[in-house]
Amino acid sequence: MQALVARLPSTHPQYQKLQRELKKKEEGDFGEQYILNELQKLQPLSDCHIFHNVIIPTILPMQIDILIITPSGIIILEIKNIRGTLHFKNNPRQLIRTTETGEVHTFTHPEIQLQQYMQAMLHFLDTYHITMPVYGAIVFPFNNVDVHGEGSGLPIVMGKELPLYIYKFITQKLDIAMDDILHIILSQLQQKNPFPLCRYYHIEPSVLQRGVYCENCGQFSMQKLKATWFCQKCEHRCKEAHVSALKDFYMLVGDTMTNRECRDFLKIDSPYVTKRLMQRLLLTRSGNGKSTKYNLSLLNGNR
Ligand SMILES: [Zn+2]
Repeated sequence: MQALVARLPSTHPQYQKLQRELKKKEEGDFGEQYILNELQKLQPLSDCHIFHNVIIPTILPMQIDILIITPSGIIILEIKNIRGTLHFKNNPRQLIRTTETGEVHTFTHPEIQLQQYMQAMLHFLDTYHITMPVYGAIVFPFNNVDVHGEGSGLPIVMGKELPLYIYKFITQKLDIAMDDILHIILSQLQQKNPFPLCRYYHIEPSVLQRGVYCENCGQFSMQKLKATWFCQKCEHRCKEAHVSALKDFYMLVGDTMTNRECRDFLKIDSPYVTKRLMQRLLLTRSGNGKSTKYNLSLLNGNR
């Protein structure tokens, strides 16, 4: 998303939306990562299984922020990194946020989604003839939020309080065959694969900003010299500057790249220089001559 927003012209019709989505994602990921780290430190969870951001195919669409399989049951955590003053409203259920500047936003009540996930999980387990309790909580990772609510339904837990909440369940050991459940869940897990992002968001790859990014001044201003890349704006030099551009291409446009595509994307004139550059990366190739395609999936292992 960072690469896409960086290379999308700010005049593109989807730019504003994607920029907002990126910001939300960065905040959400930050909160989820914090909670994951805290959970991994908890001794009673050391023999439990913790999953982050999982999709399980069930009757209802289910994308769980954090899923914990314990000998006492399954715990589903819905992480909300929202700042401001929050009011949980019942009837109709809504979450209303007021920011420091007085802006008011209305969100879907997180309980609705969490209840749906818990129901779907019970149904999922039932299809494998497993009976075990499923718990859920809405978690606010940080103390940057002031929560007011009409208390009902599922627990709302602050990050600091989460260990206590978890301990409460873990102490009630039910001798559940964790390995069986783990095996079933692992076999059903789906990874969401939105790559390449241009296809996912229906963006024409030709609108993307070309060029190699300067890590020093943040512009697409690196020029290929004989032995290095040189920034025309700030004179920064970096031998490997092309690698991040190739990763961008992989994430945004596609798995393979021809010499012509590479020249166009990195803004290099010479096919010969481009060929040497690609060969030095030791990528696997298919095809011959002008139609040679380099496979970018081996660039540092993954996206
Ligand atoms: Zn620069």
